[in-house]
Amino acid sequence: MSVESSSHFDAIVIGSGIGGLVTATQLAAKGARVLVLESYLIPGGSAGYFERNGYRFDVGASMIFGFGDRGTTNLLTRALEAVDTSIETIPDPVQIHYHLPEDLELKVHREYEDFVGELSALFPHEKEGIRKFYDECWRVFNCLNAMELLSLEEPRYLMRVFFQHPLACLGLVKYLPQNVGDIARRYIKDPTLLKFIDIECYCWSVVPAELTPMINAGMVFSDRHYGGINYPKGGVGQIAQKLVEGLEKKGSTILYKSRVKRILVENNRAVGVELVNNTRYYGDRIVSNATRWNTFQSLLPEEMLPASEERWQKRYQKSPSFVSLHLGVDASVLPEGTECHHILLENWEKMEESHGTIFVSIPTLLDPDLAPSGHHIIHTFTPSWINEWKGLSYSDYNAKKEEVADRIINRLEAIFPGLNAGLDYQEVGTPRTHRRFLNRQDGTYGPIPQRKLLGLLGMPFNRTAIPGLYCVGDSTFPGQGLNAVAFSGFACAHRIAVDLGL
Ligand SMILES: Cc1cc2nc3c(=O)[nH]c(=O)nc-3n(C[C@H](O)[C@H](O)[C@H](O)COP(=O)(O)OP(=O)(O)OC[C@H]3O[C@@H](n4cnc5c(N)ncnc54)[C@H](O)[C@@H]3O)c2cc1C
Repeated sequence: MSVESSSHFDAIVIGSGIGGLVTATQLAAKGARVLVLESYLIPGGSAGYFERNGYRFDVGASMIFGFGDRGTTNLLTRALEAVDTSIETIPDPVQIHYHLPEDLELKVHREYEDFVGELSALFPHEKEGIRKFYDECWRVFNCLNAMELLSLEEPRYLMRVFFQHPLACLGLVKYLPQNVGDIARRYIKDPTLLKFIDIECYCWSVVPAELTPMINAGMVFSDRHYGGINYPKGGVGQIAQKLVEGLEKKGSTILYKSRVKRILVENNRAVGVELVNNTRYYGDRIVSNATRWNTFQSLLPEEMLPASEERWQKRYQKSPSFVSLHLGVDASVLPEGTECHHILLENWEKMEESHGTIFVSIPTLLDPDLAPSGHHIIHTFTPSWINEWKGLSYSDYNAKKEEVADRIINRLEAIFPGLNAGLDYQEVGTPRTHRRFLNRQDGTYGPIPQRKLLGLLGMPFNRTAIPGLYCVGDSTFPGQGLNAVAFSGFACAHRIAVDLGL
C-alpha cells in the first residue's frame, strides 16, 4: 500500500510489535487516522513467525496470557474485539512442566488447587506458607481484574476507578512498590522452595523473586489459573495478523519494509519520522514501539536524551538476549502426555547464568497443523549476551552456533531421550539474530532492574519528556510479555486519545 508522504496522521506508530499494534488499533477504533511503520516484512516483532520446510515457527512468545473470556485482564481478547475480530484459541492444561535440580519435578496445572496440591505434596512442611504466598498473589490479581485497565497517567480515569473500586485501588497502591522476594520470605522458609519461587519469577521476568515486581507476579501466578494459558490456532503470528486486519478495516494503514531512521523534532516537539529512504511522514502524535534504548539512543540525537531517561538508564539495564533453536523433530521423540512448555535447570547456582536455564515450547502439541504430519516443533531457548557473539568471523560464528546448539540438545536429551536422532530440521538464532530481525538493541529481551527497586514504581508510563512523543511496549509499564505490552498499548492509546480530544 502506498501513502502520500504529504499526508498528515493523528498518530504515527514506529513498529508493529503487539504494544504498537494495540496502540494503533485502539486509536483507529476511536476514529483516529494512524500510520504504523514496520521495518520487517510482517507484523508482530517478538510475537512474529517464520516458515521453513512446512514448519511454522513462533519467533519468541508462545505461552500466551490474556486470552481469557472473563474479567478485565484478558487484554488480547479485548484488543481483538475492539477491531471486530477474534482468534480461536486452544487451552493449555499445564503452564509449565519444571525439571529442576535434585530431581525436583512438578507441573503448574491450569487448575489452581491441582498446582498448590502438587507443590504442597513436595514441600509438606510448607503447605500453609505455599497457600498464603499464592493467595496473596491472587489478592493483587483480584484488584487488577476488578477494573478497566487504562492509562495511569490520566487523572480523570484514576478518579473514576478510585470511586468505582476504592478497595482494589488501595490494594494496588500497596503492592506497587513491593517485590515478590520479600512477600515469599514472609511465608516460606525452605531454601529450595524459595529457589522454586525464584525460577517461577525468572522464567518470565529474567530476574529472581527479589527483583521481580509483585504486581507482575500477581498477574502471572493467578491469571494462568483464571484466564489460563491459551495458544492461538495457527500460531502466535495470528495475533498480529488479525490486529493488522482490524487496523486496516478501521481505515488506518501499516507499511512494511519501512525502517524509521529518526524522529523529527521541531521546536522541541516530536512532529514526524524519517525513513532510511528519506521519506518523511508527519503526525500529531509519535509513538515508538522500539525499546527505550533504541528510541533515545538511535532515533533521536544524543544531545536530546532527557534527564528522566538518563535516570531510568541508571535504574534499569538491558536483560540478556537468547540463543534460540527452532527444531523440527520426529513425533516419536515426544512420549504420550508430554506438556507444551518445559523449563530445565540442573544447578540452582546457574539459574541466572548465560546458557543456564533452558526454556522449551512445543506448540504442535496444541496445534498439530504447525508442522508436517508426524512431526513436532520444539522451540528451545536459553539466555545469552550479545558480547559472546561479537567479533567472530563468519565461519567461527557458524561453528559457535553449532557447538552451542549441540550442548543444548544434549542437555535436553535428559527429558527427551532420542531428540538428537529424531531431528528433522534445525535453525539457530543468536542475540545477533534478535538484534537484526527484531530491531532490539543487543537483542535484549527487555529492561531488568540494575539493583533492587521499589517494585514497578520505576517503570515509566507512555508519555516521554519530549512533547508529542510516547513510548509503548516492554520498556514501559508494566514490562515484558504479550499481555503486559497489550496493557501498555491500551494505556498509550487512552492517553493519546485524551490528548487528541477523541
Ligand atoms: C525468545 C522469546 C520468548 C518469549 N516468550 C514469551 C512468552 O512465552 N509469553 C509472553 O507473553 N512473552 C514472551 N516473550 C516476550 C514478548 O514476546 C515480548 O515482551 C513482546 O512481544 C514485546 O512486544 P513489543 O510490543 O514491546 O515489541 P517488539 O515485539 O519488540 O516489536 C517491536 C517492533 O518494532 C519494529 N521496529 C523497531 N524499531 C523500528 C524502526 N526504527 N523502524 C520500524 N520498525 C521498527 C520491530 O521490527 C518490531 O517489529 C518472549 C520473547 C522472546 C524474545
